[in-house]
Amino acid sequence: MKTLPDVDLVLFGGTGDLAMRKLLPAIYQQVKAGTVSAGSRLLAAARKDMTREAFLALAEATCRPFLGADFDAATWQAFAACVSYFPMDVKDPAAYGALAAALGQHPDRVRVFYYSTSPDCFAPISANLGAAGLVTEQSRVMVEKPLGHDLESSRAINDAVGEHFTERQIFRIDHYLGKEPVQNLLALRFGNVLFEPLWRREWVQDVQITVAEQLGVEGRGDFYEHTGALRDMLQNHLLQLLCIVAMEPPTGSDPDAVRDEKLKVLRSLKPFTPADVATKTVRGQYKAGAAGGKPVEGYAEETGVAADSRTETFVAVKAEIDTWRWAGVPFFLRTGKRMPDKLAEIVINFRPVPHPIFDEAAHGGRANRLIIRMQPDESMRLYLVAKQPGDAMVLHPVNLNLDFEESFRARRLEAYERLLLDAIRGRLTLFVRRDEQEAAWCWVEPILASWAANEDRPKAYTAGSWGPAASSALLSRDGLSWNEED
Ligand code: NAP
Repeated sequence: MKTLPDVDLVLFGGTGDLAMRKLLPAIYQQVKAGTVSAGSRLLAAARKDMTREAFLALAEATCRPFLGADFDAATWQAFAACVSYFPMDVKDPAAYGALAAALGQHPDRVRVFYYSTSPDCFAPISANLGAAGLVTEQSRVMVEKPLGHDLESSRAINDAVGEHFTERQIFRIDHYLGKEPVQNLLALRFGNVLFEPLWRREWVQDVQITVAEQLGVEGRGDFYEHTGALRDMLQNHLLQLLCIVAMEPPTGSDPDAVRDEKLKVLRSLKPFTPADVATKTVRGQYKAGAAGGKPVEGYAEETGVAADSRTETFVAVKAEIDTWRWAGVPFFLRTGKRMPDKLAEIVINFRPVPHPIFDEAAHGGRANRLIIRMQPDESMRLYLVAKQPGDAMVLHPVNLNLDFEESFRARRLEAYERLLLDAIRGRLTLFVRRDEQEAAWCWVEPILASWAANEDRPKAYTAGSWGPAASSALLSRDGLSWNEED
């Protein structure tokens, strides 16, 4: 990849989990790839009072396990040479002097402010950057989820950031959009003629989007109590993936052409009435069970969680899209904690052949399906049936690997590497526009309101299972089943 012009990246929350696990390793990898110029700078900020050397020692100790065999001392030295550390409270306007002095006057240099702090810092950081005159025309801001816990609070954050940055300077991250298979799905759909004619109600039976975590709340029970699976995962990641699957072909590849089409999908989602919420959504909460072969406690026993908590750690939803292309095709979305595997995948189930000429035993009873997997591995496979070699006409499911990693032999970019590079280059396509984010909130709010008004508790499921039985029933009412149940 070509070396980029000098850039200043200001990382607020530079000592946090996201910074250490994802962002610093992503920048290191780009130093190693030669994309980051020697004149570029990484300015990390957090409240902890420590020297630059102490910050670098912490960063090295924490990042190394995530870099594995990609770590080497020479690249680390080159990376470290770009780094400075600013102990500061980002909410304190007086703390921005040192940062301003370090940034200096470089109106033509790209300046990226990455907000890797809790959302209550987003408004003060924006205001303080504005007041200190640090927002130049070449500035960009990258913001992490959660952007609010409902439509109103999300608007408040967007208003606060928007007072100092234009919409074209705001890069709202949904890291699933940075994943290679999601990009590949766009290439498959819009770079080939084969799939688009099939990509509609006549040929697609149902779509399933799953993002399952094996982990529980990992000591963050007090945060999760006010969040839940619907806000934490479905409102953002799963709906963004649904948009990529369901959107119409954009008129071009420019950011707004793509984002306009995603917005249309969000606005075409059939709204939920309270009766729909009862029949088309399932909320669950894990009880004690097992994870990775070890016994684990239930959600209500976790630290920071109320014993009678009604927070959902699992949600499944039957979404419908009111358009000519998708009318009648259910999109099943589910996400949960303490599932059997860490799994993120999109399954497109095509309809069975209209007139089977092979008997079912010979055919194997399988219709075609396309599986786009983002976790634990990244892949895209098209499942077909083919004749088993031999004299009998016996069909067998086979899959075509549509992921050409081996053909291209290029190192695969991590989602955060791609997103950071895109933000530096000013490419907004993979970032969520304000109206998309708000449309997503508008669609999920009736579910939240209905759940809040309802005395029912989330349905219990055993840790290590695929969620409550009601999740399977959601599909079986349409004569369908989740991919792993087939
Ligand atoms: P974290 O581990 O709690 O880190 C927060 C960082 O912000 C720390 O460096 C903290 O350092 C700093 N900070 C907090 N208040 C500050 C203040 N007033 N002034 C200066 N620095 C301050 O959180 P995280 O997990 O990294 O997450 C960061 C953001 O990304 C959150 O909004 C989170 O929801 C989001 N996110 C995280 C992940 C993830 O995988 N971790 C994934 C998606 C989204 P000091 O305490 O020393 O100030």
